Order: sequence, then C-alpha cells, then structure tokens
Amino acid sequence: MKTWIDSLRREHHLPREIYHQLLTCQDADTIAYLHHQAREVALNQFGNKIYIRGLIEISNCCRNDCYYCGIRKSNINVTRYRLSKEQILDCCREGYELGFKTFVMQGGEDRAQSVDWLVDVISEIRRLYQDCAITLSLGEMQRNDYERLYQAGANRYLLRHETYDEEHYAKLHPGEMTANYRQQCLRWLKEIGFQTGTGIMVGSPFQTIDNILDDIQFIEELQPQMIGLGPFIPHHDTPFAQHQAGSIETTLKLLSIFRLMFPSILLPSTTALASLGLDGRLRGILAGANVVMPNLSPKDTRKNYELYNNKASLGAEAAEGLKLLNQQLSTIGYEISMERGDYKK
Ligand code: SAM
Repeated sequence: MKTWIDSLRREHHLPREIYHQLLTCQDADTIAYLHHQAREVALNQFGNKIYIRGLIEISNCCRNDCYYCGIRKSNINVTRYRLSKEQILDCCREGYELGFKTFVMQGGEDRAQSVDWLVDVISEIRRLYQDCAITLSLGEMQRNDYERLYQAGANRYLLRHETYDEEHYAKLHPGEMTANYRQQCLRWLKEIGFQTGTGIMVGSPFQTIDNILDDIQFIEELQPQMIGLGPFIPHHDTPFAQHQAGSIETTLKLLSIFRLMFPSILLPSTTALASLGLDGRLRGILAGANVVMPNLSPKDTRKNYELYNNKASLGAEAAEGLKLLNQQLSTIGYEISMERGDYKK
C-alpha cells in the first residue's frame, strides 16, 4: 500500500480499486504513512501556517427539507432568526479587529434575504474591507443570481455536492432537490470565476464506499479550489436522529487522500470533526488540512444554528477564542496565519 501512497503523492491519482483499498484499510502503519505523506505535502505548500476564516451564520431559515439537517424547514423546534445587514457588518468589524481576512457568510436558503439584499450587504463589506475575501455558502441559486453576487464583490463559494450518486442523493433529500442541479450550480460557480468549494458528509446514512469513490471521481473532474469534508452527525429533531455518526478515521483518510490528489487545495479541518472529538481539529491538520473556520456569529444566535447534535461554537471554535486556538495549534507545531489565504495553483 505504501508504494501506492507514494504514487498518489507523485501522480495525484490512483486507480479506483486502490482508493477502495485505502478507504477500507485497517493497518495502523499504512494509515499513519498516508497521513504523514499528506502532512508533508501541506507543510511544503503552506509551512506550519493555518488559514482562518470567520464564519457568520446569517440565517437559519431554510426552504429546503434535507433529512439530515437540524435547520430543515420541517423542524418546528428551531427558533428561527435572520441577521440584519447591521448585525452582519458588526460581525465583520469584530472579525477584522481580531485579524480575520476572510468572511464566510453561510445560511439556509432563506429567500427573505433576497439576492438584491445580499448584493447590498456584499457591496458594503467589499467597500469597507477591500483587502478581505468574501466567501458565500448560501446553497443553490440560478446562474444569474450567482453572477450578481460575484459582481457585488464575493470571491469564493462553498457548496458541498453532498453525494454524487443520484440514488443516494434521493435518500438524503426530498424529491424536489436533485444531485444533478447541485452539480450544475458548482459548474456555474466555477465558470463565473468563484474560487469554488465542494465536498461531502462522511458516513451520511446509506453511504457506501462506492458512493465515496464516485465522489472522489466527481471532485477530480470538477477541480475545485476548496474541499469541505466533515463526518455526518445526527440531529435529534430530524428523520436521521437514530443514525450513527460518520467515522472520524474515514474523514481523516479522505482529507489525506485529497491533500495528495490536490497539493495546493484549501482544506478545512471542519467544525463537525472538532465537534465529534476534542482533538478532532488537530487530527484533521495532522492529516493534511490547512484551514479552520472559527465562528464569528453573534453569540446569542449560535445555539440556533444547530445543524447537528452538540455542534461546537465556543472555545477554540469561536472567533473570540483565537488565542486558545493558537495555543492548541502550537501543541502540534502549527500557528494561525493572518494572511487572506487565496487559492494558488
Ligand atoms: N444552505 C447552504 C447549503 O446548502 O450549502 C449552506 C448551509 S448547509 C447547513 C451547510 C452544510 O452543513 C451542508 O452542506 C451539509 O454538508 C452540512 N450539514 C448539514 N447537516 C449536517 C449533519 N447532520 N452532519 C454534518 N454536516 C451537516
């Protein structure tokens, strides 16, 4: 297996059956070797610096009803909120003072925050913080809406494809949502010029190894600039409440595989990984991740953006906890970078 891992590092590609063997491999030595190679590649690309992004959860209202998600439309137990323009600008001001150079606006598909409104908010952030990147993670739209957001000054867009396989996608989403449209959105985003991120939940209900192999192939074809990977974690008020959380180990393997496939990709060690295990974030970095996304949302709304059980939003997961984050990173020899951290080939 080690020879294959060397080959992945050199050629950035493996035959499908070898990815399969890597994903099912239980040999501790081989897995440690995989992580070590990925970590070396990340260190060569970025040094021991971890980029930070300030996450602003702008609304938990959503028109969609994804079976896995805590803020799905049918969950009547959620206290719904949407941030005002002023609240978002306050978050940006606070983040900028803390040293953030990227603001990530994420939310449900909340049509009350119209494209006109988003254009106004983005234009204002762009005017006030010309040296910052603006990332959006606001779900599916039409092509011309994405174009307007880009023209207003947004630079990056995160939209996980969730799963490539149509049948698996249909087990995770109601009929009006399709894998095909989501993948189309990703192609548009890339064509428009966004630095584009996609990704999956690892261990989502009914996911097979073959599904993950299709995801690897899709990501290879799409050539995104960012990949968001986190374990699925059940939420108590969803149809998947009784399903098991995804595996940390498989998530870490995939982080390493993607680092070796795409040496310069921006790869977050996600909140979901940090939420499952105390050392999850650090293990993600040691497997080749190079980004973390601390929470910059107003403190009183964080608890209402509960996508899954026990989602971390405090301590080192919070923007105000940067010092703690830096301390944690230093225990494994890393530190926060205050650079904007754009994708560079
Ligand atoms: N509405 C936007 C979208 O669809 O991309 C952004 C918000 S959505 C809540 C962000 C991501 O959260 C999804 O892409 C999904 O992968 C992740 N997510 C939702 N529920 C989750 C769960 N139970 N466990 C892990 N990740 C989850």
